[in-house]
Amino acid sequence: MSLERFREQAREWLEENCPDTLRTSGSYTAGGRKATYPNPDTKIWLDRMASRGWTAPTWPSEYSGGGLSPDELRVLEDEMRRINAPAPLGGHGLTMIGPAILEFGTPDQCMEHLPPIVRGEIRWCQGYSEPGAGSDLASLQCRADEDGDDYVINGSKIWTSGANEADWIFCLVRTDVNASKHQGISFVVLDMDSPGVTVSPIELISGSSEFCQTFFDNVRVPKRQRIGNPGEGWTVGKRLLQYERSSIGGRGGPRQKTRTIDEIAKDYCGASNGKIARTDIRDRIMLTIRRSFEEAASNAAPSYLSSFFKYYGTEQNMRRQDLMMDILGSQGLGWDGEGFSGFERGSTRGWLRSKANSIEGGTSEVQLNIIAKRVLGLPD
Ligand SMILES: Cc1cc2nc3c(=O)[nH]c(=O)nc-3n(C[C@H](O)[C@H](O)[C@H](O)COP(=O)(O)OP(=O)(O)OC[C@H]3O[C@@H](n4cnc5c(N)ncnc54)[C@H](O)[C@@H]3O)c2cc1C
Repeated sequence: MSLERFREQAREWLEENCPDTLRTSGSYTAGGRKATYPNPDTKIWLDRMASRGWTAPTWPSEYSGGGLSPDELRVLEDEMRRINAPAPLGGHGLTMIGPAILEFGTPDQCMEHLPPIVRGEIRWCQGYSEPGAGSDLASLQCRADEDGDDYVINGSKIWTSGANEADWIFCLVRTDVNASKHQGISFVVLDMDSPGVTVSPIELISGSSEFCQTFFDNVRVPKRQRIGNPGEGWTVGKRLLQYERSSIGGRGGPRQKTRTIDEIAKDYCGASNGKIARTDIRDRIMLTIRRSFEEAASNAAPSYLSSFFKYYGTEQNMRRQDLMMDILGSQGLGWDGEGFSGFERGSTRGWLRSKANSIEGGTSEVQLNIIAKRVLGLPD
């Protein structure tokens, strides 16, 4: 089918199937067995998009994906943006473990795990970091000892985002304590309902509990749930991080239109002749917008360059959030109560949340190390 024909068909289908309530305020879902849908249209949209495989547009259709080419994906994203349709599904399944299983999993593993991700039935979390292994991830100590056809896992993972809501977890575990630290690691996936898994939410200063510590106490995991060969977990795990970093860096599919930062600046800092009145703010916005265009224009596949996108995208977002606070002035200091609009309270929370951007998925310093060594080829 020609791209033009595909565009016409996609446009027509999206017009008919994207519920109106989502076009003004898209609600995000990561799906899963525990998902709730305060706006029922969110689930309707998820189901309709999943029926076409358009929750995972480029995954092969044999695994329930959309089977689209990169060009068709761009057209679909254009058409979604045109009507302000939100992404129907997000989360670690689509952006991290799905692509890793496609690359390293067996056909049986692809068949078992990918279709439920496409349909939003299973929500995943990431078990990488440990109390003594963050930037130096290969120092991880969580053990998986062989016992017949199973591994028996003991240890803990920390900062597991959303573990209390997830159905499955992907983990890096030590399967060979005698091998060198990178070579003794394997990559396994397991159901969070397995006996011996407990999750302890970590309460943050904001009162929410975005993170958990996840404990494994003699958890039996069939060896067939290992992705890749024994001792190759570091290779799988690193590749998955590249997918994660590309996604955090802002290359993760269509985003719903929001008010642009220059529109907000005109509201809060005044405008004359259609221009933002404060010249200092105007100059900083110009820089931010130009950089966003440069980023969007690039289309490299995940590689070590993902460290560049992760570093650049997150530093950029943090700057954007700082700029937003400067624009809002005292209206950017709202937490709750009267006197602050929902937008203003959301902006304050967004600014505070952005502080974690330079840490999650590997810190900015670690990305700079990777860029120096792997992209620029500088000596250790
Ligand atoms: C919002 C958020 C969500 C997260 N979600 C998850 C998750 O779902 N699953 C998961 O497994 N983990 C998750 N993490 C953990 C995250 O991956 C780690 O916090 C991160 O890798 C840093 O590890 P650390 O916290 O142990 O810090 P450390 O490694 O102790 O680093 C402390 C400081 O030292 C610096 N540093 C360390 N080594 C070097 C070096 N070689 N060169 C230069 N500077 C260095 C770091 O940049 C940092 O500033 C999340 C973190 C955040 C903030």
